[in-house]
Amino acid sequence: MTLKKYREKRDFKQSPEPAGSEPLRARRAAAETRSRFFCVQKHLASHLHYDFRLEHAGVLLSWAVPKGPSLDPRTKRLAMQVEDHPIEYGAFEGVIPSGYGAGIVMLWDQGTWTPQVNDVDAALKKGDLKFTLDGYKLKGSWALVRTSGRGGRAGYGTKPSWLLIKHRDDWSDDVDIAEFAPRSVKSDGDFEDILAAGNPDVWESHRPAKGGGAGQMLARIIERAAAMKAAQTVPPAARRVAATKTARRVAATKTTKRTKKNTKKKS
Ligand code: MN
Repeated sequence: MTLKKYREKRDFKQSPEPAGSEPLRARRAAAETRSRFFCVQKHLASHLHYDFRLEHAGVLLSWAVPKGPSLDPRTKRLAMQVEDHPIEYGAFEGVIPSGYGAGIVMLWDQGTWTPQVNDVDAALKKGDLKFTLDGYKLKGSWALVRTSGRGGRAGYGTKPSWLLIKHRDDWSDDVDIAEFAPRSVKSDGDFEDILAAGNPDVWESHRPAKGGGAGQMLARIIERAAAMKAAQTVPPAARRVAATKTARRVAATKTTKRTKKNTKKKS
């Protein structure tokens, strides 16, 4: 587990993303015994996709999921493994003005994950990792199953394809969770809100030159963010009806988590 690839792809003078620190030996060991962080970042770059990240051995194992996670066990979603990311990346939401991954990153879901296997490394190597998620939007039992042998081993630095699959349980559902719950769990904003809230200092110093390739691409991304927001203003009635089950669950989860936080503060 190393962040070498992650760092090679980015210029941290140009990007507000965290550089991260190499996972320490002690941190790797500690990672095995405490509850592990997971997140999904919705990333509007040259293509919209969802970055699914599981904390393991001091880094965030990462998969790019073009269509996002599905709560329907019949809908297996392609998940392309990408380079490990630093743990600090799990809190990142903002604008990457230029370079690798240029676009807008939204923290779409976060929480904890628990492996349903004894040996995560062995499961990754085998290409079949079963786990549970406890996020705001994603919950219950899931699996990541590798589909292509490209790179052979568990894919660190290679880029094998996996499928992200929801197991049938109380949390499986036929609602389109990406469409139903499109906003940030960090700021409650959409892509336009994140653009508007971007740290002005970072934004001004990193703003790509107007008319340049990066500038044009970001302009297209900003247009697309506006179009997506406009499309969400009047949600179809059918979607509202279909989503009620998940709506109650998401609302209940948020209330529970907020209540827990408040309780902690008081005590
Ligand atoms: Mn991405």
